Amino acid sequence: MHLAESRNIDLASAVQDAEDRYATANPLSYRRWIEASRAMPGGNTRTTLHFSPYPLGIAGGAGARLTDLDGHVYTDLLGDYTAGLYGHSHPVIAAAIHRAVDQGIMLGGPNLHEAELAATLVARFPALDLVRFCNSGTEANLLAIMTARAFTGRNKVMVFRGGYHGATFIFPKAPTAITAPFDWVIADYNDLDGAQALARENADDLAAILLEPMMGNAGGINAEPGFLQGLRDLARETGAVLIFDEVMTSRMSDGGLQKLLGVTPDMTTLGKYMGGGLTFGAFGGKAEIMEIFDPTRPNTLGHGGTFNNNVLSMAAGAAGLREVFTAEAAAALFALGEALREGINAVARRHGSTLVALGCGSIMNLHFHDGPCRQPSDLWVADPDEAAKRMAQLTLLHLDLLERGFYIARRGLIAPSVPVTQADVDAFLAALDEILTVRGDLLA
Ligand code: PLP
Repeated sequence: MHLAESRNIDLASAVQDAEDRYATANPLSYRRWIEASRAMPGGNTRTTLHFSPYPLGIAGGAGARLTDLDGHVYTDLLGDYTAGLYGHSHPVIAAAIHRAVDQGIMLGGPNLHEAELAATLVARFPALDLVRFCNSGTEANLLAIMTARAFTGRNKVMVFRGGYHGATFIFPKAPTAITAPFDWVIADYNDLDGAQALARENADDLAAILLEPMMGNAGGINAEPGFLQGLRDLARETGAVLIFDEVMTSRMSDGGLQKLLGVTPDMTTLGKYMGGGLTFGAFGGKAEIMEIFDPTRPNTLGHGGTFNNNVLSMAAGAAGLREVFTAEAAAALFALGEALREGINAVARRHGSTLVALGCGSIMNLHFHDGPCRQPSDLWVADPDEAAKRMAQLTLLHLDLLERGFYIARRGLIAPSVPVTQADVDAFLAALDEILTVRGDLLA
C-alpha cells in the first residue's frame, strides 16, 4: 500500500504496513542484523541504536548525508545522538586525524594536542579552571561524582528523576539493575522547593548535585527561569558540589549552556563531539577541586587511564574547536536548531496534531504530548493503551521520515550538525507537512 492510500486505516495497521515497506526496502540491512545477532545480543552493542523491526545498517556518511547498506541516502538530522556535531568526515577533522596518525599515536607521554584542547575548554567554559580527559561521558560523570565525594568527604549524590548521565547513570521511573549503586537522592527537575527540602534533609552527607542544564536524553526539557540559579544557591548553602553534565548541551554556545544561561556550576562534564567524533570524555571545574589530581602535590588522587590523552581524540578535538566550532559557528547552529524546532511546532499546530518538539538550540525531541512538560514524568503515560498509541505514532512518524530520506532517532531525538543547511531544514519541514497531511487523524 502506498502512503497516500493509508489515510483511513487504523494506527496498528498503518505501523504494520510501514514496517512491511521498510522490510521490502531494506533487505541488506536485515541480513546484516541477522548476522550480527550471531555474535551480539540482539545484534546490538549500543542499545540506543536498536529500533523495530531492525535498524538500518549504515554503510557510510559524508557531510550531512548518510548512506545505508541498501543504497538509500538520508539527510542526517540525528548527528549520532549529538556526538556527530561536525557531520561526517569533515575535512578539518579528517586532516587532523591523518596528520596525527602519520606522527604516531601510542606515544606513552604527553602529546602535542592535549594541552591545546584543555586550554581551549578552560578559556571557553565559565566553570572550568582546570580540566582532565577520559574516554566517555559516562566515565566523565563517574569521575566527577568521585571527585565531589573526595572533595567533600561525603557520599550522597542528588540527581533528577528521568535523567540520564551515561550507561550506568540512568534514573527512569523504576530503579534499574544497571544503575551504579551510589547513595542517590532523587529529586524532580524544575521543582526547586522539592530539591531544597531533599538537599537540606541530606545536607550532612550530600556530596554533589548532578544535572543537565537542559534534560537532553529525557526529552528536551528546559530548566525554568530560576531553577538552575536556585540549585546554584542550594549547593553553596549545603556545601555540595554543583555538577552540570554538559555532555550534550555544551554545543549550545562556545562555552556551553552554562555560558548562555549565566549560571556557573562548580564542576562540568563533557563528552560526545568534543573529541571531533572520536572517543572522548572530560571533567573539570574549580581549581580548588581539580587540584586534588595534581601529581606534583603531596597526597593527591591518582586518575589513570591509558587512553585519557589518546592522540587521535586530542588532535581531532583541538582542531574541531579551533577551526570549525568557533563562537560564530556555535551561534549559527543554535539559530538553525531554533528555526527547525519552531518550524516543526508550527507545522504540527497547523495540522492540529499533538506532535511537539521540545528542547533548545540544536537539540530537540519529538513527542506526541499535550500540555506542559516541566519534568520527564510529565511525558510518562499511566494508561497502557495511550502509552502504546504514542509509541506507535512515533514509530509511524519515524518510518515515514526514513522513507522520505530523513534520519532521526526512533525516540524522536533530532540534533542537526554543522553541515546541515537551511535548505535541509526546509525539506524536512515539507516532508513532515506531507506526512501529517497523509496520515491525518493517525498522527493528530
Ligand atoms: N551524559 C549525557 C547527558 C548524555 O546524553 C550521555 C550520552 O548520551 C552521557 C552522559 C554518556 O556519554 P557516553 O555515551 O559517552 O558515555
